Amino acid sequence: MKRIVIKVGSAVLTQDNEIAKERMLNLVNLIAKLRKKYEVVLVSSGAVAAGYSALKLDKSKQIGKKAIAAAGQPILMSSYKKKFDIYGIDTAQILLTEDDFDSRKRTKIFQEIIDMHLSNNIVPIVNENDISSTPEQLFGDNDQLSASVSYAVNADLLVILSDIDGYFDKNPTEYKDAKIYKVLTELPKGALEDDATPNNPFATGGIVTKLKAADFLMKRGKKMLLTNGFDLSAAESFLIDKKHTLGTLFAPKKKEES
Ligand code: ADP
Repeated sequence: MKRIVIKVGSAVLTQDNEIAKERMLNLVNLIAKLRKKYEVVLVSSGAVAAGYSALKLDKSKQIGKKAIAAAGQPILMSSYKKKFDIYGIDTAQILLTEDDFDSRKRTKIFQEIIDMHLSNNIVPIVNENDISSTPEQLFGDNDQLSASVSYAVNADLLVILSDIDGYFDKNPTEYKDAKIYKVLTELPKGALEDDATPNNPFATGGIVTKLKAADFLMKRGKKMLLTNGFDLSAAESFLIDKKHTLGTLFAPKKKEES
């Protein structure tokens, strides 16, 4: 069975400083369908937004943000649990920092845990453990964390769900004539130097961190799909019907056989 990692960002999961419950339910419904065909690992943001409804601290300050995230992580997980329960699917929480990817010995620990969850039909839900970690130990955004997780668990594909249809030649929220890239075998020149422009008060990434994730995976012979998380039909047709309608597929050229 193929293995995929799905990453959902704050732009999709939150609305007006709260968890966007209907969108979360749609995502859980999609994951329930996908499980007939794939082993699914979910990487989910949303702890800070979930916590903010309970604890309104200044999230621009490190400690405030950590305190909110600590309050929000169980709220986020119980929100997921309620929805996965509808489908009779059990979940597990995996919190990681950059340090977990430092050595093979450390990586092996969570790799084996995720393997064990998947072989026991559990959906592992991964998030960054930003509570006790120092800034140096953090990825800072779940885009790059999800790429590292995908590679570590040897996933066939990473799907990043965001508030846009894919990667455009310029920012589509500013330029009406922006054109979407359907398939890229490498990043356009200078793409990684573009300004990060997260579109939501809880977002930390922006397009550049998604491109870094794509770059990381393509350099390792792996694929990534960036597609819409508000309307999941493009993700569903790609993953279930094998039809690429919307979304940018980052797929490295296959090496010539020598
Ligand atoms: P998430 O919370 O899903 O990680 P972000 O808000 O961090 O989402 O990043 C997505 C945003 O990146 C889009 O809403 C868009 O405004 C912005 N963006 C900037 N340049 C581009 C581009 N060339 N193509 C697509 N999106 C872009």
